[in-house]
Order: sequence, then structure tokens, then C-alpha cells
Amino acid sequence: MLSGMEIAIIGGDLRQIEVIRKLSALDATLHLIGFNNVDDGFLEAEKKEFGTTNPESLDAVILPVSGMSTNNEVESIFSGNPLVLERDWVKKTSSNTRFYTGVANKTLKSLISEENRALIEVMTRDDLAIYNSIPTAEGTIMLVIQHTNVTIHKANVTVVGFGRVGQTIANKFHGLGANVTVVAEEEALLARAYEMNVNPKPLEELSNVVCDADVVINTIPSLIITSHVISQMPSHVFIIDLASKPGGTDFEFAKKRSIKAMLAPGLPGLVAPKTAGLQLAQLLSVLLKDQWIELTEGRT
Ligand code: NAP
Repeated sequence: MLSGMEIAIIGGDLRQIEVIRKLSALDATLHLIGFNNVDDGFLEAEKKEFGTTNPESLDAVILPVSGMSTNNEVESIFSGNPLVLERDWVKKTSSNTRFYTGVANKTLKSLISEENRALIEVMTRDDLAIYNSIPTAEGTIMLVIQHTNVTIHKANVTVVGFGRVGQTIANKFHGLGANVTVVAEEEALLARAYEMNVNPKPLEELSNVVCDADVVINTIPSLIITSHVISQMPSHVFIIDLASKPGGTDFEFAKKRSIKAMLAPGLPGLVAPKTAGLQLAQLLSVLLKDQWIELTEGRT
């Protein structure tokens, strides 16, 4: 149980509802910041703002899976107002306060480390990232169906990057009968793609590979889908960029060439918030219980 533990949950998407349910059931004291549009009777937790939460009392702060933007904004689908995580607020938390997020950009990492607080990025864990890749792949299939006029069956689909998301995407599109080409850097990953019976291609061949692509799905969080690569694609191609913001595509160039290109963040929260939220809630509850044991043992 987490009785007595004070936790602030700041913003997020529908996945956080499952987190709130789980932590409420464990008897944590929850301060919900940026949840003003959620129906009151739904959650047994106090709705607050940054200004009405005492940061000193907090043992943990839970940020959304997306973390925070480079201008300190925290996304919340439950708030009409922008949420900004100010340095002064972080400064006022206790030195024992732990910050939990899905992923963290440089701005969030610097902010938390400069204030000597602990930051836990749950999406760096393979288990959660692999579970999360399933709704991500389902959301990608949904977008491909919505934005193309051909079947996935027999479509030429290029998957760029072959990590936890890339592997699940390649597997699901292969299962739907697409001609899948996987573009990756590491030899071992290319060997795995070969074993899965999809076409493995080294990254330096990307611009040749995309010549006959119907769909290009990027998972590499670096500028990989450059203007040169885009210039080799057929005009009907659909590019979906799944990599964390700002993605790895030259969107301006794609627009100039009238190529449909889309950054598609947060798909699990969009297409399967219940499943993805339960998995997130389960992991967070384990991490918070460990922290609470450490904290309470330290106090006795
Ligand atoms: P991952 O397991 O780390 O895989 C990323 C892959 O990209 C790895 O194969 C990695 O190769 C490669 N890579 C990274 N930087 C590279 C570079 N500069 N040049 C060449 N290859 C590079 O990550 P993941 O879990 O698959 O996630 C991929 C991205 O999707 C992340 O940005 C993640 O935040 C995002 N994501 C988005 C959604 C969504 O809904 N849109 C959902 C989940 C995850 P090495 O291992 O050799 O570096």
C-alpha cells in the first residue's frame, strides 16, 4: 500500500486515468494538476493547480508519457490551460522527491538534474516499451488505412529503425501481407529482419529503398528522412513519423513536394488508453512502492 505517500500527477492523456485509479486503490494521497475538465465524481483525488499544491510535501511527481516540451509545457488533454513546469516549483520540492516520466528530452533532464532531484524514465525500460509498441503498431495500421487508398496487403512498406517499436511494426505489417523492408544500421538487427522474412537494408541505402514505397514509417529519433530521401519517394507515398518530437522527417520539404507526412505521437494513449494505461499504472505502482519502502525505512 502507499498510505501516506503524497503524489502529484501532472497532465497527460487517458492513460493517466488508469494510473490514478491504481494509485487511489493503493491509498496514495493524490494531487491532480491539470485535470480540471475531468468529471468530479469519477476520481477520488483532489484536483489542484501548481499554485495550490505544496511541492514540499510531495514524495513523487508523475509527468505524462511525453514528458515536457522544450519550453517547459506539459501536455494535458484534461486542462483548458497550458501547464508549465516552472523551475521554482521544482526547486521547492523536497530533495527526496522523485520525478517519473515516460520519456525525457534534454530540457527536462537538465531541469531535474540541476535541482538534484531523481528522474525516472519508465519508457527506457524494455518491458514497458515492448508492451507499448503493440498499441503503437495498431495505431499506425489505423493511420495507414485512413490515409492511403490501397490495401496494406501487397503495399510496399518501409520501416526505418528496428528497435522495440520498429520490430513490432514490421511484424504486424508483415502479418497483414505488406511487402515490408526494414532499414537499420546494426548488422544484428538486419539479421533479425532477415529471420523474420522481411527485406533487410542498411541505412545508407535508404534513399534507394524508398523509390517504390507506398508507406514509410520512421522510428528513429534523428533527422533521417531528409529532403534528399524524400526527393527519391514517389508522390503518392505516405510518411508516418513515430519518433519522439520533433520526429526524424523534414516535414517542410515534404509539404513543399505535396507529400503527405505526419508526426504521430502518443498513439497508445489515442487508440488503446486502457491497455496502455494499465501497463503504465502497474509499472509505476511497483516503482512507487519500492520508493515508499525506502523512504519510510529511512524515516524510522
Ligand atoms: P529503440 O528501441 O531505442 O529503437 C530506436 C532504433 O533507432 C534503434 O534501432 C536505434 O539503433 C535506431 N537509432 C537511433 N538513433 C539513430 C541514429 N541517429 N541513426 C541510426 N539509427 C538510430 O526505441 P523505440 O522504443 O523503438 O522507440 C522509437 C521511437 O518511437 C522513440 O523516439 C520513441 O519515443 C517513439 N515512440 C513513439 C510512439 C508513438 O506513439 N508515436 C510510441 C512509442 C515510442 P541503435 O540501438 O543502434 O542506436
